[in-house]
Amino acid sequence: MTTRVSSWGRLESPEHQVVALSQLDQLPINSGGAGLPFGNGRSYGDVCLNPDGLLWTTRGLDRFIAFDPQQGLLTCEAGVLLRDIQRMAIPRGWMLPVTPGTQLVTVGGAIANDIHGKNHHVLGSFGDHVQRIHLLRTDGQSIVCGPDQAADWFKATVGGMGLTGVIAQATLQLRRIAGPWLEAENVPFNRLSEFFQLADDSESGWEHTVSWIDCLNSQGCGVFMRGNHVAAQRGPSPSGGGIAVPLVPPISLVNKLSLRPFNLVYYQLQARKQQKALVHYEPFFHPLDNVHHWNRIYGPKGFYQYQSVVPRNVGKEAVAAMLQTIAAAGEGSFLAVLKTFGERQSVGMMSFPTPGVTLALDFPNKGEKTLALLRSLDAIVREAGGRIYAAKDSRMPRDLFESGYPQWTEFVKYRDPGISSAMSRRLMGY
Ligand SMILES: Cc1cc2nc3c(=O)[nH]c(=O)nc-3n(C[C@H](O)[C@H](O)[C@H](O)COP(=O)(O)OP(=O)(O)OC[C@H]3O[C@@H](n4cnc5c(N)ncnc54)[C@H](O)[C@@H]3O)c2cc1C
Repeated sequence: MTTRVSSWGRLESPEHQVVALSQLDQLPINSGGAGLPFGNGRSYGDVCLNPDGLLWTTRGLDRFIAFDPQQGLLTCEAGVLLRDIQRMAIPRGWMLPVTPGTQLVTVGGAIANDIHGKNHHVLGSFGDHVQRIHLLRTDGQSIVCGPDQAADWFKATVGGMGLTGVIAQATLQLRRIAGPWLEAENVPFNRLSEFFQLADDSESGWEHTVSWIDCLNSQGCGVFMRGNHVAAQRGPSPSGGGIAVPLVPPISLVNKLSLRPFNLVYYQLQARKQQKALVHYEPFFHPLDNVHHWNRIYGPKGFYQYQSVVPRNVGKEAVAAMLQTIAAAGEGSFLAVLKTFGERQSVGMMSFPTPGVTLALDFPNKGEKTLALLRSLDAIVREAGGRIYAAKDSRMPRDLFESGYPQWTEFVKYRDPGISSAMSRRLMGY
């Protein structure tokens, strides 16, 4: 079936030949053309797109295969959503150790981008908790790999952007949990130096840390949010069914007029929650999951996400320079997230998380004006020795990819010749 597919940023919707996988024996062997696995399309840019080519959609591979309630070991197919794992495991006293800002991503997508959560400084990234991957190559070969078995294939596939084969199944080590609640608090800050102090002070006593930052304020004003899992007899429920953005508006609703009042109100609402409070994990980890299709608010041209990480020793200067550049360009970001990564090196050759500070921003697509701003941000990241996150990207220049991911020359040896994406062609030539 030929259909138009876009990723979460909605920057383009190229035609694809879509093959929906629902059984493992259907998997893409000798499919006669380069294809690409596609999870739930929650990547923002072109890592999950293969314009005019094949897409193997994996949401039909949604079966749990085995769960050991003593050890917390779960084996499942790659199209299972993280949300469904949480809902199965939490009542049994287990939880995924690492979850991103949305739980509507598949296990295959979580491995292929080696996603991170708010607790990188404690538990690393998703790949640190994967015990086994069952990988299918387009030449019919089947590879079972893990940290202690075919470890080179494992390192290439975790963070491998779907380019080493189709992940059919995975075995995940869950973590013990007393219940669905966390104790959380928010701390407002008015300068970047206060953010770094809060991060240093919080890392030993708080498992989850993240900050929202007001991009219209180049001083670095924001709210530091932190939380720990707690045992509680009862607590708040997750909020109900949620709301939806029903239509794509003709222009972006995120603009200079809307951003300033939004940031003011958001800051005040968050700053009010300074007392420790019991919160349910869903609104704490995934606050936007209840606003269905929120990506439509950027209008028909879509939006760019820009997430970088720079080393900690130059982090303050680099983040300050990025905020000043954004302010000077007269732009602002509605979702601006600042967070420190811990010292742990990622397992994947191409994993994004690395020790340092990460800033994630989104900008409505205003064509060349936005691209020029992003090039200025690239210059700061390049100078700082940082890297850009592939899951969020659709335009990073090749030199920044090569300097940010020096292991890419090793990685290409593990690529499946029958797999290609818009991103791989842009950054690796095929
Ligand atoms: C609101 C929101 C918040 C987010 N927050 C975070 C965050 O906090 N941290 C973070 O790290 N990321 C975050 N992300 C990004 C998201 O977690 C990643 O892009 C994730 O990889 C998306 O998974 P997916 O199942 O939608 O996969 P897709 O986006 O469809 O695909 C992603 C990649 O995985 C590959 N892939 C998918 N399935 C398979 C498979 N079975 N075998 C091999 N390769 C496969 C694809 O080829 C592609 O390269 C966020 C995204 C959104 C929309």
